[in-house]
Amino acid sequence: MFVRRIAVIGTGYVGLTTGACLASLGHDVVCADVDADKVKRLSQGEVDILEPGLAELVAEGIAAGRLTFVLGAGAAVKHTELGPEVVFLCVPTPMGVGGVADLSIVESVIEEVRDLLPTGAVVVNKSTVPVGTAERTEELLVRDDVAVVSNPEFLREGSAVYDFLNPDRIVVGGSKQDAAERVAALYAKLGAPTVLTDAPSAELVKYAANCFLAMKLSYVNAVAELCDRLGADITDVTEGMGYDKRIGQAFLNPGPGWGGSCLPKDTSAMLQLADAADFEFRLIRATIDTNTRQRLRMVEKVRLAVTGKRGGSLSHVKIGLLGLTFKAGTDDLRDSPALAVAALLRQAGAELTGYDPALRPGVQHSELAPVRVVADPYEAAEEAEALIVLTEWPEFRSLDWNRLAGAVRKPIVIDTRNLLDPAVARRAGFEWIGVGKH
Ligand code: NAD
Repeated sequence: MFVRRIAVIGTGYVGLTTGACLASLGHDVVCADVDADKVKRLSQGEVDILEPGLAELVAEGIAAGRLTFVLGAGAAVKHTELGPEVVFLCVPTPMGVGGVADLSIVESVIEEVRDLLPTGAVVVNKSTVPVGTAERTEELLVRDDVAVVSNPEFLREGSAVYDFLNPDRIVVGGSKQDAAERVAALYAKLGAPTVLTDAPSAELVKYAANCFLAMKLSYVNAVAELCDRLGADITDVTEGMGYDKRIGQAFLNPGPGWGGSCLPKDTSAMLQLADAADFEFRLIRATIDTNTRQRLRMVEKVRLAVTGKRGGSLSHVKIGLLGLTFKAGTDDLRDSPALAVAALLRQAGAELTGYDPALRPGVQHSELAPVRVVADPYEAAEEAEALIVLTEWPEFRSLDWNRLAGAVRKPIVIDTRNLLDPAVARRAGFEWIGVGKH
């Protein structure tokens, strides 16, 4: 195996995982970030995101001398005398004005490294970027001696290391075949199917995949609504659907709506991409609209359960929230559907106390503003007129529901994830209300 000199720009969920995993595969990796405190902590082996196995890999990489952290993209490129052979861009591409992907950070990094890259280097875009970004990167670099390759990342937060090292596929696209092959070779040990293609196709794979997942979730949420109206059971319906190999069981659980740092921005960016190509992608528009509606629907469920009527007032109604992160297994709050539902409840006048196993009380996050975060689920339940399960943390199943029944003012639990065993909650005296279940 060739040991490559690799620079990774951005040390978030994707960048840090990429850097630590490539170091574990034997490469020499330098990771850069603009956050000086983060760089300092990482240099000492301190990882502050919740990802199983990541801290261990970082520690191993540092100890083996294969993983280093520096401040700024320029420093990463200048880190060794020969310079990096491959530079991965893993910086944020947030939702910009009008829903387009904001590429300003990607572009600023390109500007920063442009004149420092050694001849023969490959710039790899791992950030999720719209079709045409590889071409734009080439234009911005103005370097015929440097290749640009698109290599989208598909890892899931909460299992980032596992997913990186056990990928379903590797997608690499670029106009220079040898550069694309060199990037694909970095993953050769992983034995995953590899799609070698042009850059626009590689860029589109990521959006097409994420939009499909969002569409699947919106679809199942809509089917769950139909179950509510028709008296069918969504768990049985999705089980019956999922055995069909063309459908599969994954992503068939209803919930309070999808969210997280990727699906909302990627569906919006895809819509804008289609608009710019003069194509009205109605399926994605409907996917987003169904999701917005799902959040409102959860609030209506709460309203009906607590007040006994549609349109009843939630003003000064105390509600306990179980789960605030966008899904279980992560501490990421970005675009969390739980917080979207919380914001709607707060707008309706409810007073919210929330507990999440991944959050410490007193944690600062602007999106947490509507919620008083506490350290204990039983404290979240105190005097509540309803409890709402918003994130599918498995430990909520084994809470002491008798103790919770003693803490609340009204024993009502709205289980937006269909997580709990209704029989357990009901035995403790709770009215259990799920999604698409009766
Ligand atoms: P993140 O916010 O967790 O991390 C980004 C990091 O980049 C931060 O540490 C930030 O300080 C750093 N950064 C910002 N500007 C920088 C600069 N100029 N130079 C160096 N570092 C800089 O983001 P993420 O979740 O890792 O996502 C990165 C990209 O990967 C996005 O395009 C995202 O859509 C994509 N992606 C994310 C996931 C995921 O599950 N999070 C999965 C696949 C793809």
